[in-house]
Amino acid sequence: MKKIEQIWPTKVICPFCNQLIQTLDEEEGFSDYKLCEHVIYLAHDEGFEFRTDEVNKQLKIDPKEENMDIEFPDEVCGYDEWTDLIKIEGGVKIATYDDCTNPEGIYFGFKP
Ligand SMILES: [Zn+2]
Repeated sequence: MKKIEQIWPTKVICPFCNQLIQTLDEEEGFSDYKLCEHVIYLAHDEGFEFRTDEVNKQLKIDPKEENMDIEFPDEVCGYDEWTDLIKIEGGVKIATYDDCTNPEGIYFGFKP
């Protein structure tokens, strides 16, 4: 998947339908999510917020597992690297990092 890297604070817009996915309240520093039909996963460094069956299949996650109970495998070093392994034709991953020196992030996967 094509990977687009952004630095927080920023808006996240679906590359396929241009819907605003992550809205940002600049005063509160709070963000909310509004997923469109193209989103296949939403993850951050503590776990998944949303994932589709396709993601379960590719990453070999039990579909019954609760989002926050999922742990990334030992061979990768976090959710960023783990979600990099998802292969979808024409797909786009948007990674929003806290800043360059502290690469904590939020990861969005989109499928056309
Ligand atoms: Zn969309």
